[in-house]
This record gives sequence, structure tokens and C-alpha cells, in this order.
Amino acid sequence: MRIVQPIPEMQALADEIRAQGKVIGFVPTMGYFHQGHLSLMRLAAQKADVVVISLFVNPTQFGPGEDFEEYPRDFNRDKNLAEENGVDIIFHPDQKEMYPEGFLTSVEVDKISRVLCGISRPHHFQGVTTVCAKLFHIVKPHFAVFGQKDFQQSVIIKRMVEDMNFDLDIITAPIIREADGLAMSSRNTYLSKAEREDALSLNRALFQAREMIQKGERSTEKLNNFIKKEISEKKHTRIDYISIVHPETLQPLDVIKDKVLLALAVFVGKTRLIDNVLIEI
Ligand code: AMP
Repeated sequence: MRIVQPIPEMQALADEIRAQGKVIGFVPTMGYFHQGHLSLMRLAAQKADVVVISLFVNPTQFGPGEDFEEYPRDFNRDKNLAEENGVDIIFHPDQKEMYPEGFLTSVEVDKISRVLCGISRPHHFQGVTTVCAKLFHIVKPHFAVFGQKDFQQSVIIKRMVEDMNFDLDIITAPIIREADGLAMSSRNTYLSKAEREDALSLNRALFQAREMIQKGERSTEKLNNFIKKEISEKKHTRIDYISIVHPETLQPLDVIKDKVLLALAVFVGKTRLIDNVLIEI
């Protein structure tokens, strides 16, 4: 496995791999790997000749007062896990080279960046799309893999790729959960024991709502109230949003027809967690 830091070196390497007719699969990450990240790497390895991951805690997607400084980092552990899971190249850029003095450009996807997580994190997705646009130009992948855990992110990236004619495919991979159902997240490490227990109300409420839909419930108001009640009765939770939307447009639904995304963000203590379930009827 190779570790590459300078941007021109990564670009030259990508050109070399492409000249050999090989397929580059790419997984962008912020590190501190769990099984969710590793599942994306293994999926990429099944489809690509060369798997590149980026490991970069991107400052522009964190808002003021968010956890950029505290975000967990452990490069050596991540390096070993990546190698064990089929990664060929880790692109590990320097922040100053990614955002040099004088940097002025950003990429913004309108509308769908302003709903769900975009309401309480107004500049987050602009940071994500800008860094992904840069990474796609640096790594030059044939495809990139994103997790359904960040459902809105994957919808926004797909929109950017289509609108801006990026020449790559975006693949979305399923959410990997702990044995008790909690969606894996690097931020789960922030939770105390009592908070970890209350955090289970997120996935349990979503799973129960899914069951209600499967049994015929179609009223989004009833489903929303149910999820809200299940989560808000826990001591350490504070709901940011619960949204029942169409998975492509991310627009709210009054009545469920064919496809629906139940998505939520909840503060558990100081930690903001997200989760979702996608249901096709
Ligand atoms: P992050 O390092 O948090 O930016 O995540 C990197 C990639 O891993 C993103 O595409 C995430 O959606 C994905 N990811 C994070 N958690 C999970 C999970 N529990 N299951 C599947 N993919 C995940």
C-alpha cells in the first residue's frame, strides 16, 4: 500500500494507473475507521483494479463551534485497517496544500443542500461538495463509493456529478450498524454509557416506523409524531429534525406513495447523530 501526500504526485499516479487501462475506485473519508468505512473499501475493491481512499478531516465542512478540533484521528490505526481491507493508495493531503492562501472557489448544489441537515449546518454541504470536487480532480476515479448513512450527502454528490459532468459513477453503499442497531459513526466514541443507551432510540424509532409503513400506515404526520415521542422521552436526547421526504427530491411528503426516506438528526448529549431508513413500497 502506498501513502501519497502531495497533490501533483497523486494526480501523476492516477494518470499512470489510467494509462495502464486500470479502473480506479475511490472512497473519500475523514478517517477513524469503523466497519462502515471498511465496508465501502471492500465494495470498491470488488469493482476496481486500484482502490484509493482519501483521509482528510476537511475543515470547510465544519461550522463554527462544531467538532473540527476534537474530531478523532489515528493515522496509524487507519493505515493498517485500510491495508487489511483492500486499499492500494491512501491519499493523505496537507490542509495547507488543499486550501492554500488565496483559495476562493466553492461548489454549491442549490436547494437540496438547504433542507434536512442543511438547516442547522448551513455551510456544511458546500464544504463537502467543494472538497469532493477537488478530490475527484486529484484522484481521477472511475467511480466513488459513499455510505447511505449520509443519505443527503450522497444525493447532493450525485447531483453535482451530473450537473458538472464529472466523468465518474457514484455508488451508494448500505448503512453498517452495531449489533444493537446503532448506526456506526466516528462520533459514537464521544458518547457516555448513558448517552449510548439513549442513542438507541434513534434506530429503534426508525425501525418501528418502517414496520408501521410496511403494515399500511401512510400518514407522515402520525409517523413523525411517533418517532418524535419515542426519541424525546429519553433523557439525553434533543431532536434537531425528523423528516419524511422523497428520497430523490428530499422534499417533504404528506402521504407516502412509492418511496420514502425517514431521516433524522438528534443531539445525544453534545453529540449530533444522524440516521435514516429508506423504504420502497
Ligand atoms: P466520514 O469519514 O464520516 O466522512 O465517512 C466517510 C464515508 O463513510 C461516507 O461516505 C459515509 O457515508 C460512510 N459511512 C460512515 N458511516 C457509515 C456507516 N455506518 N455505514 C456505511 N457507511 C458509512
